[in-house]
Amino acid sequence: MNAVDRVTVRDRLLEVGRDQSLRRELGWETALDFIGDLGSHPLHFLFGVIFDYQIPYEKAWRAPFVLEGRLVERGIKFSAESIAKMSEEELAEILKRKPALHRFPGKVSKALIEAAKRVNTKYNSDPLSIWSDKPTAKQLEERFDDFWGIGQKNASMAVRLLVEWFNVEVSGDWSGIDVSGDRNVLRVFKRLGLIDKEEVGKAIQVARELNPSYPGALDFPAWAIGIKWCKSKNPECPSCPLGDICPKLL
Ligand code: SF4
Repeated sequence: MNAVDRVTVRDRLLEVGRDQSLRRELGWETALDFIGDLGSHPLHFLFGVIFDYQIPYEKAWRAPFVLEGRLVERGIKFSAESIAKMSEEELAEILKRKPALHRFPGKVSKALIEAAKRVNTKYNSDPLSIWSDKPTAKQLEERFDDFWGIGQKNASMAVRLLVEWFNVEVSGDWSGIDVSGDRNVLRVFKRLGLIDKEEVGKAIQVARELNPSYPGALDFPAWAIGIKWCKSKNPECPSCPLGDICPKLL
C-alpha cells in the first residue's frame, strides 16, 4: 500500500471514529455511563479497567458497582484500604456469587487486591492521584501498566478513556497515547494492509506514523470495525465503511 492509500485509510478510520451513533450502538457510552462522575468513582474506574478482560465491556464496567453493593452487604467499605485487607479467596467468592462478576474470579480478585494495595502505598490511598497531577500521556499509561493484571492493552485504553471521555488533563500533547493490542484492532490493521503481521508493536508503530498527534485515535474505529464488520470469520466487506478502499488481505 502506498503512502496515499495509507493516508486515505487513516482518514476513513478517523471518520468512523467520529461516528457517535456507532459508539452508542456498540454500547461504549452505556459502559462509561456507569462511571458517571469520575471524581466520585475513581476506584470504580480503576477496577473497571481490571474487570475489562475477556468479558463484555458493559458487564466489566458495571462490575465495580455490583461489587460495591456486595461488599457493603458484608459490612466492607468499597475503598482501597478495606479491599487491600481482604484475602483473594474471600474476594473471589464474592465475585463468583451468581450472577458471577467475572469468568476468571481468581485472577481478577488478585488483581483487585494488588491494585488496592498499590493505591494505598503509591497514591496515598487515593486513586484519583493516579492521574490528578497532570502526568504526560506516556507516564499515565506506565502508571496503569504498573498495576498487576493491567497490560498495555488496558493501560492505553484507560488513558484514552480518561483524556477523551473524562477530560482528564495530561501534560503535553496526545502523541504518547497509543493504540492497544486488542485482537480486533490487530486483525483490522492487518486486513487493511497497515501491518503485515498481527503484532502489537507493529500496530503501535504504524499508528504513530499515520497519526502522530494522537495515534490512539485509530484504536476505537479499528476496534469497532472488527466487532461489527471485520469478524475473524465471514467479514462483512460489502457493508463495511472501509469496503471500497480496503485491500481485504484476509
Ligand atoms: S472491508 Fe472487509 S476486510 Fe476490510 S476492514 Fe472491512 S470487513 Fe475487514
